Amino acid sequence: MNDQAALLEVADLHTSFRSDRGTVRAVRGVDLSLPRGRTIGVVGESGSGKSVLSRSIMGLVPGNATRTGSVRFDGTEILNAPPKTMRSYWGDQMSMVFQDPMTALNPVLRVEHQITESLHEHLDLSKQQGKETALALLTSVGIPEPARRLRMYPHEMSGGMRQRIMIAIALACGPRMLFADEPTTALDVTVQAQILDLLQDLQRDRQMAMILVTHDLGVVAGRAHDIAVMYAGQVVEHASASSLFAAVRHPYTEALLESIPKLEMAKHTRLEAIGGRPPDLVNLPGGCKFAARCRYAQERCSTEEPELVADPHDPTHLVRCHFPVGTSSEVPRHEALVDQALDVPEAVSAELPQPTVENHEDPGAGSASDEGAN
Ligand code: SF4
Repeated sequence: MNDQAALLEVADLHTSFRSDRGTVRAVRGVDLSLPRGRTIGVVGESGSGKSVLSRSIMGLVPGNATRTGSVRFDGTEILNAPPKTMRSYWGDQMSMVFQDPMTALNPVLRVEHQITESLHEHLDLSKQQGKETALALLTSVGIPEPARRLRMYPHEMSGGMRQRIMIAIALACGPRMLFADEPTTALDVTVQAQILDLLQDLQRDRQMAMILVTHDLGVVAGRAHDIAVMYAGQVVEHASASSLFAAVRHPYTEALLESIPKLEMAKHTRLEAIGGRPPDLVNLPGGCKFAARCRYAQERCSTEEPELVADPHDPTHLVRCHFPVGTSSEVPRHEALVDQALDVPEAVSAELPQPTVENHEDPGAGSASDEGAN
């Protein structure tokens, strides 16, 4: 997808879980490559494997999980590395913003303690330096009155403010790679946009690599350079955002696009839901895993599983389908989303700055004052 050296390289990653019903095959043969300064949106419904993929890369999987394949971070293989080794990566190399800050934050500890905890673990900072860094972090994520907020408990803040705290904690040690797993699901629409814009600004200013996990293609349209659409544990379409929206090729991606509201829709227009349900990951059907829900399915689809192959007209656009949507001249083009995708600034290809804890100046994020404290 690009010429820069990859910070993260994932090859043929499989993750499965032992369960009473059998083996749950949550991630099946995923390949990804991501340089610094670039964002990939990983998109799919619940159960598509997108969140398990992020957690598998970071090593945040439960004891009943088995992972095979390869995850290389900055050239070093880290898949199945011992917990002690992985802990040395968490915080200052890679970090995650979780879905629900209320469950991710500790309700009985003040914000200051929760931010400075990782600073003291990874960086040799005095108490005063830790506090100053925490203040700078809160300012950088657009929290007004940071000194007062440091003394607060999570329940004294609004959902948007808590998510900003989570982002500050994730960025505390200057990670080179950030995972954002449905970071705005628990928030209302206005605050969602503010948090997503904040993440995009921070990613660009710090030149982090970012994996943005979401079920909503509209969320990644103006924020990701590349998009990987997942279904039943596999990537079914992978392209630059502009290429994907200019020529959607997989029927599942097309169905996801039809399920998001558009500005030009008349009031009370009924959104298209994707009929049927995702397959059982314990008893996967043969052939294409989307066949039971696909409007274009033909006989071959239920017997022969498609490979992820390059579109003949665009070698960087990969699709897993025997009968991709449209023809070379008649593919569905989503103009508004193409325009948004083209607006995402390219990564800086020259020598990139190393983020440091001192480098927490205000990146120009919008003020959170409109979110209120409660
Ligand atoms: Fe649909 Fe067949 Fe393509 Fe699967 S392979 S997505 S069933 S057309």
